[in-house]
Amino acid sequence: MKPHNPNRVPKDVYLSFVSSLSGNRMTLLVGVIVHVATCLAVAAKTQYSIYILLSVAFLLVFGARMVIFRQFDRVDKQSLPHAGIERWERILVASGACTTALLGIASGYAIFVVRDSFAELACISVTMATMVSVVGRNYGSRFAVDLQTLFCCLPMIVCSLLALDFYRGVLSIFLIPFWLTTRAMANGVREFLYENVIARREITIIADRFDTALNNMPHGLVMVDTENRIQVINRKACELLKIGAPDRLKDRDLGAVLRYGARYSFMDASQPELILRQLTQVAEGSLSRTLIHFPEGLSLEFSASRRADGGAVLIFEDVSSRVKAEQKILHMVRFDALTGLPNREYFGQRVQEYLTRHPKKRGPLGFMILDIDEFKHVNDMRGHVTGDHLLCAIAMRVKEMAGNAIVGRLMGDQFILFFPHARDKQVLDADIRKLHAAVQGQYEVDEVTFLVSLSAGYAVLESDAFAMDEWSVKADLALFESKSRIKGGIAGFEREMDGRYIEQQKLKADLREAVAANALHLVFQPMFKADGARIECAEALARWVHPERGSIPPDVFIRLAEDMGIISDITRFVLFKACSECMTWPEHIAVSVNLSARDLRDADILSVVADALAQSGLAAARLHLEVTESCLIDEPAAVRAILAELRFRGITIAIDDFGTGFSSLSYLDTLPLDIVKIDRSFVRNIVEDTRRLKLLRGTVNLARELGLKIVIEGVETEEQLALLNKHRSADLVQGYVFSPPVPSQNITLLQEGIIGRRTVQRRRTKVA
Ligand code: C2E
Ligand code: MG
Ligand code: MG
Repeated sequence: MKPHNPNRVPKDVYLSFVSSLSGNRMTLLVGVIVHVATCLAVAAKTQYSIYILLSVAFLLVFGARMVIFRQFDRVDKQSLPHAGIERWERILVASGACTTALLGIASGYAIFVVRDSFAELACISVTMATMVSVVGRNYGSRFAVDLQTLFCCLPMIVCSLLALDFYRGVLSIFLIPFWLTTRAMANGVREFLYENVIARREITIIADRFDTALNNMPHGLVMVDTENRIQVINRKACELLKIGAPDRLKDRDLGAVLRYGARYSFMDASQPELILRQLTQVAEGSLSRTLIHFPEGLSLEFSASRRADGGAVLIFEDVSSRVKAEQKILHMVRFDALTGLPNREYFGQRVQEYLTRHPKKRGPLGFMILDIDEFKHVNDMRGHVTGDHLLCAIAMRVKEMAGNAIVGRLMGDQFILFFPHARDKQVLDADIRKLHAAVQGQYEVDEVTFLVSLSAGYAVLESDAFAMDEWSVKADLALFESKSRIKGGIAGFEREMDGRYIEQQKLKADLREAVAANALHLVFQPMFKADGARIECAEALARWVHPERGSIPPDVFIRLAEDMGIISDITRFVLFKACSECMTWPEHIAVSVNLSARDLRDADILSVVADALAQSGLAAARLHLEVTESCLIDEPAAVRAILAELRFRGITIAIDDFGTGFSSLSYLDTLPLDIVKIDRSFVRNIVEDTRRLKLLRGTVNLARELGLKIVIEGVETEEQLALLNKHRSADLVQGYVFSPPVPSQNITLLQEGIIGRRTVQRRRTKVA
């Protein structure tokens, strides 16, 4: 690109070229001294006073140029418009041209007028030398070079020709190529410089852009040479690695810089080597990227590539938030959100990891399941928040006490524990039992003291017999066994439990068949007036006679049916049958049917009851329904609404087994009840233990005050009956003292005194 037209030249470049016209002032000073001295010497030699005038003119022009330079220096170059630069160019060129014009005049005059060889030689050689310096000083302006060289040469050429001397004429012709080559030289220098300036300018722009991009990228970048010396490092890299400012790190060894960083910042001593090793691996292609964790939760992901010259580029980014989010997700997947314990899957993984880590270790391993007894009641009575707090407190204690055992939360209120290799079975057995005992007891939660018991089942096996699923089934069987014995108990797995489990599964299948085939039957237990005068009601009790195992207790098969979800089928069967049987009894005798918690979970029970009444033709007033406190646990409000509706339809509602549940008294005034059936456990010791009698009487009085009718269950002996009657405790009595459960037809016979009348009569006399 040639700077022919100043308008096409970038302003800053044009300005720098024009500014060069006022540079090199030292050469100007030297020049003026030489010019003045030459003129004075010529004047002295030739006695031409014009040379004295010329030397004065040189001084004046020099002075004027200095003044112009100073003014130019003061100009605010940045705000100077293009036209202003052009004006200054003209002024500077004109002032320079004055000097060369004086030189041209001095030389021309010496050739044409003075014709003295010294004068000609002195003037021409000084003019020639000045022309050379014109190139050096004025290459920035074509205009300046043209004008000044013209002013130097033209007077000499013209005067040489006018002198009409052959040799001077030859000299004048020689001056033309000299003039032209001098111009060409100046132009060559200018164009060369121009191209360089433009190139440098572009490089600076590119470097600036690169710098901006480099320092604003979200990644850290380090470029190293073959010797691992830093060639480029951006600000982000320094920030992330906390290793000072980029400009101070150039040409430093990366390893040394990182080690310095480790000493004075947050890295630990092993990390610089780790980064360098990973860098080498990534650069060699054996690793595509690598993640390094630093203290203070910083995680950087590095990738690198080799450069053609053998160096490498290392790029890394801060992935701390991604890593944290991943860790959080992983934690959520692995751990139970409430207690912070590993969930079932992760627990299994940890057990497997342990076993993989110790493939050769021998000795027994343990597996235990802990189940909080009646935890549902806590939720119900104290709310879910307190329930959650209690669960966390228990989880915490289990974890604290577990020692080197792995703990997990199985589900709801169950925990699972794995005990690593122990010395022998006895030791492990003892440890497990000790742990079970330690986690039971008092818990202070939300300013309430809970007495917590946990049922436990465990299995101890040799490590080579380990199979996760099998073990949890075994511990589960043991837990089932322990729960069926006593609350807060513990049972170890025994081989027979497997058999019992299989048996139970078979029993379940048989029960399903029996229910489907209506193979259950009912017996009825009468409730007598306390004086034994007559039967008021009879409770329907289901019976199942197993074809091989004989009679199965209702406690057992009712619980199985509840577990299997077929209890409502039994309830339906009992309701229909009981209602139709009741129709065969004397009219004043009602029938009472037990409902299970599941029956009250939805409103279907309303239509089942209505259908049973409609089909049998029984009056609603002759149907009693018994519910236990456990029916109210899940959704007290919904259950209350169903009971209220039943009661509204004329059905009598009784609370069964009263006193065995958790909350007892608090339910009585809020539930739509007619009858309280006090559990037989209240009656058991009333003859021997006066405190038990007092407790019974207290409960009876309370229920009476709430306007409820009292049925006392499980009265077995005459003494018990006499005592109850003495204190007028019961409205009705249900128990072996009057009659065990009997077939339906016996109810009428009993009432009419055809059977058992004598016993009843004798009792009546006694009471009287
Ligand atoms: P429950 O409703 O409290 O029934 C009374 C239980 O006490 C009956 O036991 C009865 O035989 C027994 N019993 C009566 N008098 C005495 C006595 O003087 N001494 C003693 N020790 N026991 C006496 P059963 O028939 O074995 O029923 C046990 C439980 O099974 C019932 O307790 C009831 O909760 C449940 N059940 C029985 N049939 C049904 C049913 O059809 N549906 C539902 N949901 N549960 C039923
Ligand atoms: Mg009952
Ligand atoms: Mg009962």
